[in-house]
Amino acid sequence: MSYILAITNQKGGVGKTTTAVNLAASLAHMGLRVLLVDLDPQGNATMGSGVDKRDQDKTVYHVLLRQADAADVTQASPRGGYDILPANRDLAGAEVELVGISQRETRLKEALRDVADHYDFVLIDCPPALNMLTVNALTAAVAVLIPMQCEYFALEGLSDLVNTIKKVKAKLNTRIEIEGLLRVMFDPRNTLAQQVSDQLKRHFGAKVYDTVIPRNVRLAEAPSHGLAALAYDRGSKGAQAYLLLAEEFVARRATQEKR
Ligand code: ADP
Ligand code: MG
Repeated sequence: MSYILAITNQKGGVGKTTTAVNLAASLAHMGLRVLLVDLDPQGNATMGSGVDKRDQDKTVYHVLLRQADAADVTQASPRGGYDILPANRDLAGAEVELVGISQRETRLKEALRDVADHYDFVLIDCPPALNMLTVNALTAAVAVLIPMQCEYFALEGLSDLVNTIKKVKAKLNTRIEIEGLLRVMFDPRNTLAQQVSDQLKRHFGAKVYDTVIPRNVRLAEAPSHGLAALAYDRGSKGAQAYLLLAEEFVARRATQEKR
């Protein structure tokens, strides 16, 4: 059974795509079979996986509208070691086109049913909004990974996300849980970051990953080469941090499964 994880935060620029791409590459590096679903019309996860979003006639948009099968649209990331279900700006239309369609929240879940068994992990890179696309991701997933910067307003934004997750849990997907909160672009010398980090641990306890992703320029450079940091500069602090995250993530899964 594959484990479907939505990487979500309604704020933009908080490290969702960086986490999705680098966690996918790190899990693949560990020998696991991974599918990365790009669910953001910006197509950054697609480009960052080495697939040109402009060359795709069929994308996740066509899958959501039942104009294509997920298996036919999925392709291998050339140097990522994982598969990618690409997106581009076509997806921006899906929000509007899904309105008025019955069971619009479960489109992604249905589409993944046929392919998910080929993978150990399916990671979904969400758009920066609590919209119908994100609801589709939360309905398809069993868990949510929330990347966040430890800034002053970070916790405030979290309550909206937690409320959305609760609504989806009540109506659409009773299984959904928060898998973990990931501190990204973290600067331990910043006092405010430390304070927010402490607050986060008080609120969410063990849900906060021990692994912290530092601010690292290699993580920002790698996407313009269509690469995860692991392929771009394996020894970089960023690549190594995401490898540690993948290990922590897999270890957590193993202890949860034993229960
Ligand atoms: P989101 O998907 O949430 O919008 P991104 O993953 O695209 O966020 O990250 C926003 C920007 O910050 C990008 O330019 C990305 O390269 C950069 N970035 C993300 N994480 C890091 C990091 N740990 N260190 C340095 N730059 C980062
Ligand atoms: Mg993104």
